Amino acid sequence: MNGLMQQHPLLISSLLIHAERHHGAQEIVSRRVEGDIHRTTYAALAARSRRMAKAMAALGVRDSDRVATLAWNGYRHMELYYAVSGMGAVLHTLNPRLHPDQVVWIADHAEDLVLCFDLTFLPLVQAVAGRLKTVKHFVLMADRSHMPAEAKIPGLLCYEDLIDAQDDAYIWPQLDENHASSLCYTSGTTGNPKGVLYSHRSTVLHAFGAALPDALNCSSRDVILPVVPMFHVNAWSLPYVGCMVGSKLVFPGAGLDGKSLYELFESEKVTCSAGVPTVWQGLLAYVEANGLKFSTMNRTVIGGSACPPAMIRTFQEKYGVHVLHAWGMTEMSPLGTVCSFRNKHLALSDEERLALQTKQGQAIFGVDMKIVDGDGKELPWDGQASGELLVRGPWIIEQYFKGEGGDPLVDGWFPTGDVATIDPDGYMQITDRSKDVIKSGGEWIGSIDLENIAMAHPAVAMAACIAAKHPKWDERPLLVVMKKPGAEVTKAELLAFYEGKIAKWWTPDDVVFVDAIPLGATGKMQKNKLREQFKDHALP
Ligand code: ADP
Repeated sequence: MNGLMQQHPLLISSLLIHAERHHGAQEIVSRRVEGDIHRTTYAALAARSRRMAKAMAALGVRDSDRVATLAWNGYRHMELYYAVSGMGAVLHTLNPRLHPDQVVWIADHAEDLVLCFDLTFLPLVQAVAGRLKTVKHFVLMADRSHMPAEAKIPGLLCYEDLIDAQDDAYIWPQLDENHASSLCYTSGTTGNPKGVLYSHRSTVLHAFGAALPDALNCSSRDVILPVVPMFHVNAWSLPYVGCMVGSKLVFPGAGLDGKSLYELFESEKVTCSAGVPTVWQGLLAYVEANGLKFSTMNRTVIGGSACPPAMIRTFQEKYGVHVLHAWGMTEMSPLGTVCSFRNKHLALSDEERLALQTKQGQAIFGVDMKIVDGDGKELPWDGQASGELLVRGPWIIEQYFKGEGGDPLVDGWFPTGDVATIDPDGYMQITDRSKDVIKSGGEWIGSIDLENIAMAHPAVAMAACIAAKHPKWDERPLLVVMKKPGAEVTKAELLAFYEGKIAKWWTPDDVVFVDAIPLGATGKMQKNKLREQFKDHALP
């Protein structure tokens, strides 16, 4: 016997319809690349998204065609999120921080038909336009007054002209909820990038999961500023969560420096933000240097790479901003776990809670996880045994776009490439990425622990721990350190700093100081580059 309830497909357009009808007056504020602060509402967003859907159809965009963006976080980008997916086409968010050759490779692979881009990326698009094999239309996301006098791109279209040419009488199609909605490529640190193709169903279910109280805890009372870019796994779903719960959204555009972010946090009374650790370093440095405080921000989501405990401590103890340490990946839409507290943790001391927050946290409903040993045998949840982390669930990848790389699943589970422990309460902790693990004399040393300790030293701005070749032990840890401006610390002082904090044999064999640690297109340390740079490093 079936249940007797209504069937409605879970569609991205239904999020927008909800936001327009129930939160129509709620604000969306954007710092535009044109330089000003722009204010709009969910009602206006919905109307303009309908016009943009009609404009895309008029350009010849059909079901499942790919429309690419090269854009910062802003209201026009959000309109494209809804217009393109809502009409049944696929929004492909290109990462503008990639090398131009990679942008071309990915756009060709995705077979993008239209490319919409912010003014900032005009030089990039001009440089690559002639090499893009499938793009027929280029759209500059600006009004007529910002169109270049001499566009080097034939037939360059103006976003606001496209909107003006349409009315907003448009009914969103009733798609199958499994229809493709958007496409995001993995960073491709090993081999070519691979496309992850989300569906309407996976996106809406993921937004439900992300908004839950023990996940990002989002509501209509929130003012959310996603620092994480909309080209980095759909800004961790916040543009969808915004519509779902009716929170005010604030988009920082290209202004991701500490000063610009801080100003927006304060002027727009932001309550919640989200981003990778490297971005927060810049913000904290600015706030500390200027003796500032946050007056409205109560929490921030930090993920994408391990959040150093020293950063959690500073946010919480100095600024009263609670840190939600989260873990996920492009293949997971991206959220998998969030470190929120259970009732019993509320009675713990601050130090004990801080130790817990170093973990990446508990699985959100919708994500199942397990750890396995080298033979695929499941390991116990005792907080000690570490093994490869596998996941499954309705917003986790089944296959890469165009079947690249073959079947990625093992008995229905997706191997994450992360090495983790899970404690008896189900709190997961990443000890490393399998390719970053240091194998010393057959034993594994987790690089994240070693980095977290170094980052707690007051003179250290950033630290990466990589495997260096060793004649006897095969590999030993080498610590690569970028000092804070004006700060001094010696190798001996840093190594002494490890004493009593870890097993002695985990202590790095050597320390090298560098001016900068290379960051990838999503703000993560590129340890593969460091390994290359120090491949001939002779350990003492
Ligand atoms: P994204 O682009 O979403 O950051 P990627 O797919 O490039 O995703 O990277 C995902 C990887 O980032 C994870 O497999 C994991 O190694 C790392 N990662 C993400 N969040 C965390 C975290 N909180 N702690 C440690 N590693 C993390």
